[in-house]
Amino acid sequence: MEVLQEVKPRVYKFGDKKADGNSTMKNLLGGKGANLAEMSSIGIPVPPGFTITTEVCTEYNSLGKETAVNLIKREVEESIENIENLMGTKFGDKVNPLLVSVRSGARVSMPGMMDTVLNLGMNDEVVLGLAKKTNNDQFAWDSYRRFIQMYGGVVLGMKPASKEDIDPFEEIMENLKEKRGIELDTEFTIQDLKDLVFDFKDAVKKRTGHDFPTNPWDQLWGAIIAVFNSWNGDRAVYYRNMHGYPADWGTAVNVQAMVYGNMGDNSGTGVCFTRDAGTGENVFNGEYLINAQGEDVVAGVRTPQQITKLGSERWAELAKVEEEDRIENYPSLEELMPSIFNKLNTYQNKLEKHYRDMQDMEFTMQDGKLWILQTRNGKRTGAAMVKIAMDLLKEGMIDEKEALLLVEPNKLDELLHPIFDSKALKKANVIAQGLPASPGAATGKIVFFADEANKYKSSILVRIETSPEDLEGMNIAKGILTARGGMTSHAAVVARGMGKCCISGAGALKINYKTRTLKVDGNEYHEGDWISLNGSTGNIIEGKVATMEPELSGEFAELMKLSDKYAVMKVRTNADSPKDAKIARSFGAQGIGLTRTEHMFFELDRIKAMREMILAETVKGRKQALKDLLPMQREDFEGIFEAMEGFAVTIRLLDPPLHEFVPHQLATQKDLAEEMHISLQAVKNKVAELEEFNPMLGHRGCRLGNTYPEITEMQTHAIIEAALNLKARGIVCKPEIMVPLIGTVKEFEFQEKIIRTTAAAIFEERNDTVEYLVGTMIEIPRAALMADKIAEKADFFSFGTNDLTQMTFGYSRDDAGKFLPTYLEKGILKVDPFEVLDQEGVGQLIVIGTERGRSTKPNLKVGICGEHGGEPSSVEFCYGVGMDYVSCSPYRVPIARLVSAQATIKSIK
Ligand code: ADP
Ligand code: MG
Ligand code: MG
Repeated sequence: MEVLQEVKPRVYKFGDKKADGNSTMKNLLGGKGANLAEMSSIGIPVPPGFTITTEVCTEYNSLGKETAVNLIKREVEESIENIENLMGTKFGDKVNPLLVSVRSGARVSMPGMMDTVLNLGMNDEVVLGLAKKTNNDQFAWDSYRRFIQMYGGVVLGMKPASKEDIDPFEEIMENLKEKRGIELDTEFTIQDLKDLVFDFKDAVKKRTGHDFPTNPWDQLWGAIIAVFNSWNGDRAVYYRNMHGYPADWGTAVNVQAMVYGNMGDNSGTGVCFTRDAGTGENVFNGEYLINAQGEDVVAGVRTPQQITKLGSERWAELAKVEEEDRIENYPSLEELMPSIFNKLNTYQNKLEKHYRDMQDMEFTMQDGKLWILQTRNGKRTGAAMVKIAMDLLKEGMIDEKEALLLVEPNKLDELLHPIFDSKALKKANVIAQGLPASPGAATGKIVFFADEANKYKSSILVRIETSPEDLEGMNIAKGILTARGGMTSHAAVVARGMGKCCISGAGALKINYKTRTLKVDGNEYHEGDWISLNGSTGNIIEGKVATMEPELSGEFAELMKLSDKYAVMKVRTNADSPKDAKIARSFGAQGIGLTRTEHMFFELDRIKAMREMILAETVKGRKQALKDLLPMQREDFEGIFEAMEGFAVTIRLLDPPLHEFVPHQLATQKDLAEEMHISLQAVKNKVAELEEFNPMLGHRGCRLGNTYPEITEMQTHAIIEAALNLKARGIVCKPEIMVPLIGTVKEFEFQEKIIRTTAAAIFEERNDTVEYLVGTMIEIPRAALMADKIAEKADFFSFGTNDLTQMTFGYSRDDAGKFLPTYLEKGILKVDPFEVLDQEGVGQLIVIGTERGRSTKPNLKVGICGEHGGEPSSVEFCYGVGMDYVSCSPYRVPIARLVSAQATIKSIK
């Protein structure tokens, strides 16, 4: 019997308060398509259209153009017919034409990364029909020139010839403007627009060798294929890689009836946010332009106006525009078109409530009617992300768990960076003012081209405006400054998404790409000159400005408190000094998971004592040198214990190969010889003797303490005495002494015995005791495998995942730079395993180590202290393994606290 198989549709329609899809279908319809469908169903006015699924993109990529087109041809034709019926117009008709937009839309929003074509369906006859029907020649010809421009760029490859060149169509327009002595696109006459259409087509013919396509259906298929192709374009690929989005997601294609913002003074277009994407403040805001279309607002062709009166007043203050001038020339939408504004305000409220998150929307007004063209959860800075999550919680829109899940852990990083020192700011020389597009502090050397952002260690990218091509450079630069564009310009939106400081629309700047100079107020700045940006005020400052540490306060502190309420797994810090320990405590670390004692030996007078210890020929000589080191170590430990306010402190015994400590330069070798009253040759011999073929696998870790037990003795002395001293001062502390790099049980037993004997002797001598633990790092694969035996002896385990990764992969960390970049590029490795824990491989050893360890000691305390302890996906893994804590650098503590809470919430969901 034949089974009737249901064929899954490849095209989903929306419009007229109905839709085949909905907002849960982002993977299939892309974010834009899914939300257009959702908006249509909940009664928001969206122009009718349809979405071709992301799966078709994948089919196109594997099966090729012809097959892909055949698969969807019938559905596309039907769907166009549906639009025609709803709009009462006809695609390609000479009297009553339907024009459409063809828009890309991946699962996640990739602003400006892929391509869009507007006004598709135009040709020499359709334009006449449209002009006649609307009785508006200006509009019809403006739409035609826009279409050729976009289709030429997106589908026919009409791009700037080099980076110093501008877009070929822009160039034609600029020349005409100059000839005609006008400044704005809106000033073109009907004849100008006709000339532009002619010249544009001519330019296409010259460059491509083909006539511009006149058949609307050819245009449509050309645009659909171009959108599919844009998924594999350079920009999109870079963006995908930056965020780790896989290539097989593909993009959907949205085809939608055009609504026209360029029909005259009763039309326009804009972008708006339900809350402030920079600060998170709960104020509706955005920008619009009258008689404009599509990306005009974002591209910064004209100075956009503010949607709300409040926004307009704030803007005028920054732009130093007088109130009269503002009302006359830059009125807000609220003032200019109150009824449209009220509608927009209603929709923005409705959409935010519906999605329960801050929305970023696009709208167009056609002859007094408002249409919504897009909504999505808005990109925002880390600060805004935290504030919005906590505000939505307080407003009762979301619950605590949802609030915690709304914050991307890595975004907290932005809040932990240094900010400008307020004292230094007072003295700063402000050379110009722009819009505070994305808050933060940035100092760097001027570069004018995105692909030169890596020319200096810290650079500030200075552009007239940015475009999606600049993404990579924007990511590298410390800050972004543009002369054109508003708060919703490309630069502003992208910078906020990256959490990068950005000032936009600094109109006083005269930027010359050819001479690579920036002129403002008679001063000239060159490539390589230092400038500073204050993204919170829009101040552009000459030279460098000093910075200071940020604080955890307000909503950030609230978020952290909430995290701790849900987090089961604790967060400790890696800290080698009282200063780091204090910072980490202020960030909420509950203990220290790793203190590396060797770092203490590098300081000035200490390194000398350390070298004497290493160079000593006899045990007696070594002991003498160690005696000098003892008080210094003890003092460090006292400081760290004190900073930790009673929380546990794990101290690792000396770990690195001794060779790292000895002098390698002749001059320092001579000094040392003199001081120790030995010959230079003796020093040289010792240095040579310490050299190893493979230091990472050599004489280090517990192998040091087992060959030179007096080192372990001295360190134990320092730790236990410090603890006793604090106890005498009434301060509790819990030292956890950690033996590094063991591979066999015996290695641990030998060290443990030295530690316990030494401690016992001190207790006896001082007639007092403190509690302490002796545990070990698990960082050699054999130790993970032998964990059951080791746990019989050790009080705790800490996975040293840096070494564990090194030894499991067999990649030397010091040499991996030679091949890792190629591996990542070729896709042999997906991510750098030293950054993101390799859960599949190294993770197995962690699971085995933990399980076996707890099989013999059920309440064995387990933690992690590698760099991975602050990386979100790795922290989540540690929670899954059942670790008691993760330990990370002080600045990552808040991130780990949040991830720990999120992991708990996700696991009970
Ligand atoms: P992106 O993904 O880069 O934002 P979009 O597909 O949203 O690109 O479209 C670019 C611009 O064109 C936006 O401003 C959008 O509002 C506008 N636009 C898209 N489709 C239409 C349409 N059917 N009518 C009017 N404007 C449109
Ligand atoms: Mg858009
Ligand atoms: Mg190690």
